[in-house]
Amino acid sequence: MLKVVLVNPAITAKGFNSFSTDNYIHHGLAYIDATLTKNGFDSAYVDLRRCVDWNDVRSQLLKEKGDVYGITSMTVDFGIAIKVAKLIRKILPKAKIVIGGIHVTLMPKDGLKNKCFDYVITGEGEISMVKLVKAISTKKKISRLIVGEPADLDEIPFINRDKFFHREGESKMPFVPDLPVPFATIMTSRGCPFNCAFCQPAEKMVFRGKVRIRNIKSVVDEIIDIKKKYGLKSYLIHDDLFLINKDRMMEFVRLMKKHKLNIPFICQGRADLITKLQPELKELKKVGLFALMIGFESGSQRILDYIDKRTTVDDNHKSAEICHKLGIHIWANYMMGIPTETYREMFQTMNMIRKINPEYHSPSFFTPYPQTRLFDYCIENDLFIFKEYSDYRRGIENNKIKGFNYDFMRGILFLYMPWSMRAGAIKYMFKKLL
Ligand code: SF4
Repeated sequence: MLKVVLVNPAITAKGFNSFSTDNYIHHGLAYIDATLTKNGFDSAYVDLRRCVDWNDVRSQLLKEKGDVYGITSMTVDFGIAIKVAKLIRKILPKAKIVIGGIHVTLMPKDGLKNKCFDYVITGEGEISMVKLVKAISTKKKISRLIVGEPADLDEIPFINRDKFFHREGESKMPFVPDLPVPFATIMTSRGCPFNCAFCQPAEKMVFRGKVRIRNIKSVVDEIIDIKKKYGLKSYLIHDDLFLINKDRMMEFVRLMKKHKLNIPFICQGRADLITKLQPELKELKKVGLFALMIGFESGSQRILDYIDKRTTVDDNHKSAEICHKLGIHIWANYMMGIPTETYREMFQTMNMIRKINPEYHSPSFFTPYPQTRLFDYCIENDLFIFKEYSDYRRGIENNKIKGFNYDFMRGILFLYMPWSMRAGAIKYMFKKLL
C-alpha cells in the first residue's frame, strides 16, 4: 500500500518555528488524511510551521519517505509550495507530487506550468486524492489536472487531531487570550451564499457555489469526542457562516443542552443576520457563544454597496448593540484601501469602529485576491503592484494597490486603535527598525 505524506507549507506570514503562535489545524489536509486512512492508506503529515529551517524540512520529508506527497497552498504560500515540491523532487525523485488547495483551484495554470507538480487537484480533495492514489498504485493513467469532487460532509470521518499536533499546538487560541485552553477548531459547513466583491466568485469556485452542511448531531458528537480526548475548554467554528440556518442553530442548542455542554466558542456572523437573530443568539449564548467575528468592513454606505456586502452601516451598529446587550464579545473585521475609497471614508470606518467598541480588532488593508471581482477591477484599472506570491497577505504590513498612501493609513489605524494594540504596534515597528 502506498504511503502518502501531506505537507502544509504555510510559513510566509510567520516563518519557520511559528507553530506556537500560528497553530490552527489545516482542516483541508486533516480531512484528506482522515479519508485516506479510512480507505486503508498510510498517511503522514509534515507541517513547515514546526520546522526550524530548510534542512529540517528536508529531514522531515526524508523521515516520512512517502510514495506520494500532497501539498496544499493558499496564494500567499504558493512560492513556498513550489520550493517544497522542488526539494522533494531532488531528494526523492521517484515520489509523485500533488498540489491542491485554494491557489491552484483559482489559478490551475500556475500548478500546471510548474513541472515539479505531477498532478494538480482543484476544489475539494478528499474523494479525488483517494482516487488519484489508487490510480498511482495500480499504474492507471490519469489526467494531470483533476477537478475535485465535493464530498458528502457526513461521510468524512472525524479528523485525527493527534496527527495534526493538537496536543502541542491547537490547544491554544492564537488571537483570543481570554479563551480557556485546550482550544480547538471545528468545521460544520462549507460555502457561503453571499457575494462580496473582495471574496467572490473565488469562494464559490472552491466549494462549487453551494453551501453544504454537516448533520448537527455529528458536529456535537465531534465536540464530545474532542472533550473526551483532550479536555476541550473552548473552540472556534471555522465555517464561513455558521449563523446561516436558524433551525440548525436551534438544533445545535438543543443537543448541546441535552449533553449539558456549555463550552465557550467563537463563530463568524454577518451584521445583517445578527440584527434578525437576537432570540437565537440568546440561546447560543447559553451553550457557550463567547464572541462573534463580524465583517463590518466599512463605515461608509457607499463602500459597503460598492463591495456588494449587502449590509448597512446601521446593521453594523445594531448588531454591535445586540452583542453588547447579550454579553457576546465582538471580533471586528474591517478594511481600508478598497478601490475608489477616500480617506474621509476611512475615517468614517474608524469612527464607526470606535462607537462599536469591539473587544478584538482585526483591521486589514484590502488585498486583491485572484478570481475576485475586485481583483479583476485592479487589473483592468492598472492598480496592481504585487510581484510575488508572498505579497498576498491580508494584514497591514505591506502595500496592496496603487493610489493610496499606506503609511498615512497605518497612521489612521494607530490613532484610533486601543492602547493595548498600540503597544503591540510600537513593539512591531521597533523590531522592524532594529
Ligand atoms: S466575505 Fe464572508 S459573507 Fe462575503 S462572500 Fe465571502 S464568506 Fe461570504
